[in-house]
Amino acid sequence: MAELRVPLIAGNWKMNLDHLQSIAFVQKLAWALKDAGYQEKQVEVAVFPPFTDLRSVQTLIGADDLPLALGGQDLSVHDDGAHTGDVSGVFLKALDCRYVIVGHSERRSDHHESDDVVAGKALAAVRNGLVPIVCVGETAEDLEQFGPSKVPLDQLAVVLDQLKSSDDYVVAYEPVWAIGSGQAATPDQAETVARALRAAIQDKHGADAAARTRILYGGSVKSGNIAGFMKRENVDGALVGGASLDVAEFSAIVRFPAHVTMDS
Ligand code: PEP
Repeated sequence: MAELRVPLIAGNWKMNLDHLQSIAFVQKLAWALKDAGYQEKQVEVAVFPPFTDLRSVQTLIGADDLPLALGGQDLSVHDDGAHTGDVSGVFLKALDCRYVIVGHSERRSDHHESDDVVAGKALAAVRNGLVPIVCVGETAEDLEQFGPSKVPLDQLAVVLDQLKSSDDYVVAYEPVWAIGSGQAATPDQAETVARALRAAIQDKHGADAAARTRILYGGSVKSGNIAGFMKRENVDGALVGGASLDVAEFSAIVRFPAHVTMDS
């Protein structure tokens, strides 16, 4: 992580917690972060509840002035119209979402989202004033066949072609084999790919974009391994799935600056 980029710890709840559970969860998370002396300027924390929870969580964050950013787990390439079941970036923006995840591997596999669709979603996010968190990552088969960086770089290239150098976006390197498997990449592996992704941003969008764009690692991140990732120059945070559903574990991940100098 480099000083000029505020680290982002993003909790992707996936299809967990209904709107009532989400309220109780966010209240507990806010208390845990307060107890731990959480500093918003040091680390940004964002939560990504299911769509049906967004209004409840937005209301709670607003009413209690909680230091949490809100994001959607997906959005439509369209802003309105006859697209049953899709959710518009216009609507996410109206709910005070700051971020939206695009191209998560579960969307790519469950809904056959192509790189072009992911790029269209990133564009829809930016068009609506949302910051897309663009997920890229290789499967175990890709890793064996092409090594670690090729697939993530190819996926990112399609998105970068659609965005402008002035656009604000985040990239999440999430090796598919590490998601939900309990087998995280090593910090060295994450840094190698993050460095390659940053170089690609520099080639396409210039040095300023490369210097300011945050690159997250995701895949079986826990409180016990976050420090190792955050010590790396090109890793600026984490996209956390399973561990984001455990208040104690997630708030310990957010507190990584307290243990980033320890061996991990
Ligand atoms: C994810 O869903 O983006 C993720 C990284 O999941 P997990 O942390 O459970 O591996």
